Amino acid sequence: MRVLVAGAGVAGLAAARALLNAGHEVQVYERAPSPRLEGGSVTLWSGGTGILADLGVDLTGAGRRIDTMQTWNHRGRRLLTVDVAAVARRYGTPNVHLPRRHLIQRLAAGLPDGVLRFGHTCAHVDPERGELAFAGGGTARGDVVVGAEGRASVVRDLLWGADPGRMTGWITWQGYTTGPPELAGSHRALMVVGPQGLCGLIPAGEGRLLWWFDHRTDHREPPPASPAAALTERFGHWASPVPEVLARIGEADLFRHHRHRVPKVWGRGRATLAGDAAHSMPPTMAQGANQALEDAWTLARELDGPGPVADRLRRYERARSRRAARAANLAATEMTDSHRAQSLTRLLPGRLVTAAYIAWLRRVSTYLASTT
Ligand SMILES: Cc1cc2nc3c(=O)[nH]c(=O)nc-3n(C[C@H](O)[C@H](O)[C@H](O)COP(=O)(O)OP(=O)(O)OC[C@H]3O[C@@H](n4cnc5c(N)ncnc54)[C@H](O)[C@@H]3O)c2cc1C
Repeated sequence: MRVLVAGAGVAGLAAARALLNAGHEVQVYERAPSPRLEGGSVTLWSGGTGILADLGVDLTGAGRRIDTMQTWNHRGRRLLTVDVAAVARRYGTPNVHLPRRHLIQRLAAGLPDGVLRFGHTCAHVDPERGELAFAGGGTARGDVVVGAEGRASVVRDLLWGADPGRMTGWITWQGYTTGPPELAGSHRALMVVGPQGLCGLIPAGEGRLLWWFDHRTDHREPPPASPAAALTERFGHWASPVPEVLARIGEADLFRHHRHRVPKVWGRGRATLAGDAAHSMPPTMAQGANQALEDAWTLARELDGPGPVADRLRRYERARSRRAARAANLAATEMTDSHRAQSLTRLLPGRLVTAAYIAWLRRVSTYLASTT
């Protein structure tokens, strides 16, 4: 089959690899003039790294393996430790935190010439004819069209009707530092929660540490002139290591937490969706990139099934929608950002939480659920 993919982000590139591996002809149309390598880093759980291994994407040397997730309160008291290495032991594939740039580069590496077409902005889709139309003119026709252009997907808006989603009221400021070395060189993610919000710290490889601060805000307010000063004012009184991290802050990116409702049916006729186009969610559960990989892997499997193309696509959507909605719904509660909810976790035994976390990862992963 000839498959047209709109967007060369994680979902689009992974879909291209999965579909090419399955013997399809694939064309990916990306609006930007070259791969978009900006942004911070993403966590890939065992399901995500398992899918990448299946797709033949080599992660050797990329990012940092994560074995433990700890939550502390703002006074420096440990609330919870999740042994995420147990997930890796259970499924045989690691949890890795890596710069988004590395993931995009590894997904794109080795794609045959002519698969990626940059400078093509998808402006319209005809789901019955399997046709994409581009801003500035020109069309392409295939057996299948996949809208994978992220949270502001044009294909989704044309299929679902304009659905702007909504802001959850939380924002993330994020960036990298090169220390403190005891964190940057570790295999531990640390989340510190307090009444003012959350500070997250996670090693991203090459001695770098991704820091992020989540807090509530009125999303209509303009961002502060100096994010570092505003964050220091809000979080500077917290226990170590938060002040040390604040002292190292340089450039900072702003993300406004956003979500769409995730319906059961994503497409129509020969058109479907993948990744954030179908299920944008806040970054709180670190599921965005994982769910995009799940879509790509599942799409290739279901397209190999019997029946008309439209039936295969609806089977793909059914296979994904429940699990993606589960991930999006939990992320949208902003539970991990809640000081009150996280304070209660100190009452729970770590082993119980680890077991619950493994079970949850399986409940949001079509890939892990298909393994024994
Ligand atoms: C530049 C950038 C930086 C990011 N940084 C972070 C981060 O720091 N942390 C984090 O957790 N998540 C980040 N994300 C989001 C994260 O990549 C996604 O949540 C997740 O990986 C799912 O990916 P996706 O492919 O569905 O969407 P995306 O990664 O958003 O990719 C969508 C792609 O489609 C392209 N596109 C958009 N509209 C059109 C159009 N009309 N026609 C053709 N192409 C189009 C975009 O240029 C982009 O390349 C970032 C996304 C982008 C694009």
